[in-house]
Amino acid sequence: MLSQFNQFLLNFSLLITSLLFAFLPLRHIKRISPTSPIRIRLIVGVIAGLISVLLVLNSVTYDGAKVDLRLVALVTAFYYGGWVSGGITMVAIIGARFIITPPGAYEGLILTALICSALLVTASVYRRFASHTLKDYLILIAIGIGYSLPALYLLTETFTRFLEISLVYIIFILLGGYVTYRFLQELRKHFQFVQMQQELALTDGLTNLANRRKLDETLASYDKDGFAFSVLIVDIDFFKSVNDTYGHDGGDVVLRQLSHLLEHCCPDKAMVGRYGGEEFVLLLPDMPLKEAVRLGETIRSACADQHFVFSTYPAFHVTLSIGVAASDQAATSFEVVQKADQSLYQAKQTGRNKVVAYSEVD
Ligand code: GH3
Ligand code: MG
Ligand code: MG
Repeated sequence: MLSQFNQFLLNFSLLITSLLFAFLPLRHIKRISPTSPIRIRLIVGVIAGLISVLLVLNSVTYDGAKVDLRLVALVTAFYYGGWVSGGITMVAIIGARFIITPPGAYEGLILTALICSALLVTASVYRRFASHTLKDYLILIAIGIGYSLPALYLLTETFTRFLEISLVYIIFILLGGYVTYRFLQELRKHFQFVQMQQELALTDGLTNLANRRKLDETLASYDKDGFAFSVLIVDIDFFKSVNDTYGHDGGDVVLRQLSHLLEHCCPDKAMVGRYGGEEFVLLLPDMPLKEAVRLGETIRSACADQHFVFSTYPAFHVTLSIGVAASDQAATSFEVVQKADQSLYQAKQTGRNKVVAYSEVD
């Protein structure tokens, strides 16, 4: 009994360890369900299939019966990927069971095929009335146990031995199923949390635009890939007086409204970010200087025409100064930004509410 227990424990450890490794390549997928793209369901089926092969090859032999946690792998595959994933896992289980079947002793193999098919058919019917919960997952496991027990009875030599192995089997399958379900849920929550934190680390809290870290990362990637691009640095004129007149909250509203305007004016592949304070940076891949200046002019005039609204104050206007530079004017992206900044300085010095391109500075 103890050695059976130990072997089940080994099966259980194999299941949990392999699930952890298998989860890693799928960790960025938000939710895997029977309506996920077919490619995902196929991958789930192959992974669950490989795990079941591992479990079957390490099964506990009890008279003619080979007992293991393959049922958990099958139900998990079906639960996440529907009959496509479940079907692949079933084929893998039957294949592995064939490998460990001694010549001539095909009862176990045939019973395995019958149990898997019956379970998949029942699960497909059951799913129409079920929701995606732990209760339904455990009910599928229980149905699988129900189908397996008669097979265990047929393959064991005495009723006592059947009772002995059934007890250990039921405990381990239910425990294995419960732990697998919770383990996968917790892993998913954990990776979603990490993903959310990663997104937050690259997003400006006030405007939801890319923040300085994200802009710097993107510029570094342009350097690495030798990408051609232009940069616009956009700075609100006399923003301090906006704050003085409408308060800090009024200033924040202007920053948010301007961020919408910038996103609206930019082409899809542009990156709009807040560099800090009332300064925004636009990265424009594949856009030559002249075109970037035209875009800057569109943004400048759109902002000058925009009615900014805050609280009960009458609508008011703000203007922008914009510096522009392009990647063919400097060796590194850092220098391109520096040059756009010099142009911005020039725009401020020569009257504000204007667009200055780097070539005009010299
Ligand atoms: P200039 O035309 O020369 O650019 O003048 P300016 O007043 O726009 O520039 P200055 O650098 O003197 O002032 C920028 C102001 O932006 C000062 C600061 O309080 C304000 N500011 C920076 N970050 C925020 C923010 O997140 N919200 C608000 N409301 N104000 C901010
Ligand atoms: Mg300013
Ligand atoms: Mg500024």
